[in-house]
Amino acid sequence: MEFLVSQGFKRKICEKCGKGFWTLDENRRVCPDQPCSYYEFLGNPPTKKKFNYVESWKKIEKFFVDHGHESIKRYPVVARWYPPLFFTAASIVDFYRLEDGNVIFEFPANPLIVPQFCLRFNDVPNVGKTGKHYTCFVMVGQHSIYDGEHGYWKERCIELDFKLLTEVFGIDPKEIIFVEDLWVGTGAFGSSMEYYVRGLELGNAVFTEFLITPSGFKQMPYKVIDMGAGLERFSWITYGTPTSYDIVFEPILKKLKKRVSVEYDKDFFLSYSKFAGTLNIDEVKDMNIALKSIAKKLNVSVEEMRKRVEPIQALYAICDHTRALTFAITDGMIPSNVGGGYNLRVILRRALSFIKTLGWDVKLIDVCEMHAKQLKQMCPELKEHLDEINEILDVETKRFKATEERVSRIVERLVKEKKEVDEETLIKLYDSEGVTPELVKMKLPNVKIPTDFYAKVAERHVKKAKKEVKEPLPVEKVKPTKLLFYEKEEEYEFDAKVLKIIGKNVILDKTLFYPTMGGQVHDTGTINGCRVTNVEKIGSVVVHEVESINFKEGDTVHCVVDKERRLTLKRHHTATHIINACCRKVLGSWVWQHGAEKTPEKARLDITHYESLKDEEIEKIEEKANEIVMKNLPVKVYTMPRSEAEKKYGFRIYQGGATPSKTIRIVEIPGVDVEACGGLHCKRTGEVGFITIIKTKRIQDGVVRLEFCSGERAIEYLKKKEALLEEACKLLKVKEDKIVDAIKELFNEWKKLRKMVKR
Ligand SMILES: [Zn+2]
Ligand SMILES: [Zn+2]
Repeated sequence: MEFLVSQGFKRKICEKCGKGFWTLDENRRVCPDQPCSYYEFLGNPPTKKKFNYVESWKKIEKFFVDHGHESIKRYPVVARWYPPLFFTAASIVDFYRLEDGNVIFEFPANPLIVPQFCLRFNDVPNVGKTGKHYTCFVMVGQHSIYDGEHGYWKERCIELDFKLLTEVFGIDPKEIIFVEDLWVGTGAFGSSMEYYVRGLELGNAVFTEFLITPSGFKQMPYKVIDMGAGLERFSWITYGTPTSYDIVFEPILKKLKKRVSVEYDKDFFLSYSKFAGTLNIDEVKDMNIALKSIAKKLNVSVEEMRKRVEPIQALYAICDHTRALTFAITDGMIPSNVGGGYNLRVILRRALSFIKTLGWDVKLIDVCEMHAKQLKQMCPELKEHLDEINEILDVETKRFKATEERVSRIVERLVKEKKEVDEETLIKLYDSEGVTPELVKMKLPNVKIPTDFYAKVAERHVKKAKKEVKEPLPVEKVKPTKLLFYEKEEEYEFDAKVLKIIGKNVILDKTLFYPTMGGQVHDTGTINGCRVTNVEKIGSVVVHEVESINFKEGDTVHCVVDKERRLTLKRHHTATHIINACCRKVLGSWVWQHGAEKTPEKARLDITHYESLKDEEIEKIEEKANEIVMKNLPVKVYTMPRSEAEKKYGFRIYQGGATPSKTIRIVEIPGVDVEACGGLHCKRTGEVGFITIIKTKRIQDGVVRLEFCSGERAIEYLKKKEALLEEACKLLKVKEDKIVDAIKELFNEWKKLRKMVKR
């Protein structure tokens, strides 16, 4: 730590916890972390400068840009490019990419700075209460890849962070303490330096340089600087307000306090915060005892303290939760019972519960609008999505109210059954009926809500989501199959060498057979005259399932792909891209592909949407889809570097999930749709033929399924319908245009007769 030494810093060991730290203070004996130290900046900020939230970012951004960093735009809060996570939980996640199952880093610039809005849902009960916990916060990411030539490493990083604090924020070097630690992540580790001012951790620089291997560890080919700093805290330290929420949500709280006319005694809150700052709901064993001791110190009763504190805390939580929802919906995820949507519904209902409990007249959308206004310099895109956010919040609020009405009945039943309302019951009520424990508590005040309730519920869902894995074929040692179906898309016959036969499974050196992948089902055909019934890709090997095999390993065989089936699959696949784009256009930007399957009979597309489709919506989607068909637009296919594609088209391309390779295949219908896709498509939209939607259904909360077909299949489908109509006409002995009247008449007649019979 040459830089720190040059500035006169001394390394010491904390007398309480044993951690190493660097300080200019000769007399300091403990590290600045809790519980060794406490906050000393509340009501007593260490600098004369005052920067509000957005200003703080502008100052930090300018400093790093002046020092050779590129400032890049925030990434979405929904981490579509990195499937192990639903949400962007840290700035470094922006640059995680998967490659053959490993995590690699892809930086769009080096070095760079990013104001990354992050979502985390592991601390929901603490949000609003501790003064520093959020579900939605900005991690200022200072990142650099160092290969000995480009970027920079430890010394430069610490020097920059030190200068940011002293030169930009005007903090005295004596106030800054660096704490050394070790950081271990997924598959890699390194040392880290956290920096503190008056007990508040402002940033944490992680220096990743070692890979964890089965035999120990080894040096990485390049080193990565991952410095994350909470923007909330930078603004907070300059004001020293009782909580960080006071300054982060300052313009919003001002309006809300007025609207709900809650009393805010700043001095009382400051004293409360000083005692409660260390309160972490997960760590405190008995919340009641903790609250009692704080009340005693403040010289008030627990009831009095709660009365003065809780409404303000509810406002803080509402501010945070609406901000998380604003970003999540803007970035294309909606509350539901599916995946990450689950977390969004939890916070949405928590916010609504506060409003209900306190009897306030607050609309969540109004608060979202205030966020968009406050953050318009940083995130101008929020404003454009307010109408959509309003639509979603409206539906969800109505659902919440309907649930609430059910609660009374449910509680009545529980009381009648004299059932004890334990944790299991609460979880069941939440999961099956959407009833929050807060709502139950309103009717049954004696019910105890576990402090980690929502974490527990979420955990169950994660466990549920795990998939079964099929026993794999032993193909690791077989040479990768050469895939011919991309280059020779118009060909249907080929000769190949048989590399391996395992039971019914045949592996060739090359193949034109498209295996089931990306939702497109496999081709069929023949190998040496034997029927191919299934084709799968396992790793880089294509496995053909063949009936009554009449050849052996080493043979050269003649293979034929069923042309008609392939053509229908191409039509259905291309139709799926078109329908997906039309759904997004007609319904809203939250529409994402949730799943898809293209078979020769029909295609199905599952999309994220909050309710069943209305008839006029289905009609509109179908109409728009056929317009695109009739325009006969080109369907362009090209491969390009993943980073370039993301830059050019955004993360919308990952409709079918992220692509785990450096180059990706892009399928573009200009002006309509761009996706990363490995499937086979028509050359022009006209080849798809007429598209007809057969059926739509809400298959689960937040997911709607559309079934449709095109080309020949669509004609067959309509012919069948026509035949039914003709048959009905014959039975009723009327012409087609009179059939509706005839049925009405018949129905009325039947009703009359039934009445007569009943009499
Ligand atoms: Zn310590
Ligand atoms: Zn496709």
